[in-house]
Amino acid sequence: MNYETVIGLEVHAQLLTKSKMYCSCSADYANTPPNTHVCPVCLGMPGVLPVINKQAVEFTMMTALALNCPIADFTRFDRKNYAYPDLMKGYQISQAYAPISKKGYVTIEVDGVTRKLGINHIHLEEDVARLMHRSEPGGEDYSLVDVNRSGLPLMEIVSEPDMRSAEEARQYLIKLHSILQYLGISTGNMEEGAFRCDANISIRPEGSQELGPKVEVKNLNSFKAVFMAMEYEAKRQRKALGEGKKLVQETRGWVDNESKTVTQRTKEYAHDYRYFPEPDLPPITIGREWVEEVRKKLPELPEARRDRFMKEYDLPVYDANLLTGSKTMADYFEEGVKASKEVSPKEVGNWLVGEVTRILNAGDIDIGEFKKKVSPDKLTALISSSHGQINAVTAKAVLEEMYKSGQSATEIISKRGVSQINDTGELEKIVAEVIKSNVQPVADYKAGKETALKFLVGQVMKASQGRANPQIVNEVLKRKLDEV
Ligand SMILES: [Zn+2]
Repeated sequence: MNYETVIGLEVHAQLLTKSKMYCSCSADYANTPPNTHVCPVCLGMPGVLPVINKQAVEFTMMTALALNCPIADFTRFDRKNYAYPDLMKGYQISQAYAPISKKGYVTIEVDGVTRKLGINHIHLEEDVARLMHRSEPGGEDYSLVDVNRSGLPLMEIVSEPDMRSAEEARQYLIKLHSILQYLGISTGNMEEGAFRCDANISIRPEGSQELGPKVEVKNLNSFKAVFMAMEYEAKRQRKALGEGKKLVQETRGWVDNESKTVTQRTKEYAHDYRYFPEPDLPPITIGREWVEEVRKKLPELPEARRDRFMKEYDLPVYDANLLTGSKTMADYFEEGVKASKEVSPKEVGNWLVGEVTRILNAGDIDIGEFKKKVSPDKLTALISSSHGQINAVTAKAVLEEMYKSGQSATEIISKRGVSQINDTGELEKIVAEVIKSNVQPVADYKAGKETALKFLVGQVMKASQGRANPQIVNEVLKRKLDEV
């Protein structure tokens, strides 16, 4: 039997507010000692009263508008009872029944096909404390609790089960990440857990409308992990059914270094959490004027920027897509274009999509890291040098060294002595040497063998240590060969 994969993603994003979700503790707790960003509210002391963070509500509204989600007139918070040591109160204040926004969509492109993927809803909740599990040699195991993270505003974006492959799941996540980055409401840092994802995956016979038992995969903290975990699960579930086993609804964890999922617990159902309306917080009525005010704060979003890049800079859709996929990359491009009049936007785009992306992939770094070493104006200065001072091959090598050393193109070119040789007289000397020492290829060329010319050009380039201007070499070589 043929099966279809069904995937839905739940994405949690920490919001870049000044204070926590329900108290006035600073949300910027990075690099601070454990349990220093705490107060009676986020420590879950009895008798305290939480207060809703307005900025967090606005950030969630911005996200909703960017994801084509209508904003509810009325929203309310609920208590999610969940006895786990990372929750000081013994419950989490979340939104189960009246989230801020419902029913939107994003579009993604996979293999040239555009797909519209539904967003089920977007709601607000609070992050939990960090647990650090320790074990002493020969002693007992124990856990340390750091409450600094607890109470941080956490926005949850729940998709419809609309994805049909691991690649669609990956593209959806990349798109969402990009939109939040453009909105400037989350760092999106996946390694630090500021943007994390749980995936629900099931399979069903092709043509069936019913969903199979859902497996929730936790701990997916990179785009690659999402892709690999979904590939793994789709295969595992098909295999199990093929062997006549029964699939169960459960939670599994992704083990990155072993590239597999393992059972964690059988999945709870919503009623296990005994949700009820949070009695300590008032419901919020969202007036349409407020929505319009928030709408005005929306920046240019990835798709609009892509369309503008195509129009304003005359870029092909492929380049425009790659350049605007990340806000940092798009900013880098525009800074580069502004930095130099001698270099065309198309050239800056080509270098970013080509050589720069190659360096990013090889070093597994992002454009932000790259920018620390090679600023946009340094890149355009290099591109400008490749217009005559150095040849294309050298320019690529120089860029590599700029990234490694942080030096400018000019510094590297003068240090290495790699300036292009454009002087015809100097090139004629090298050509004469090459003709003299390559009797057979010269004879081949004379006999009409075109490939011999390429070989001879290569020899001249080699003799000049890659510095010769290839165009002039071609001309000089042909002319000299005619004289032989
Ligand atoms: Zn607090």
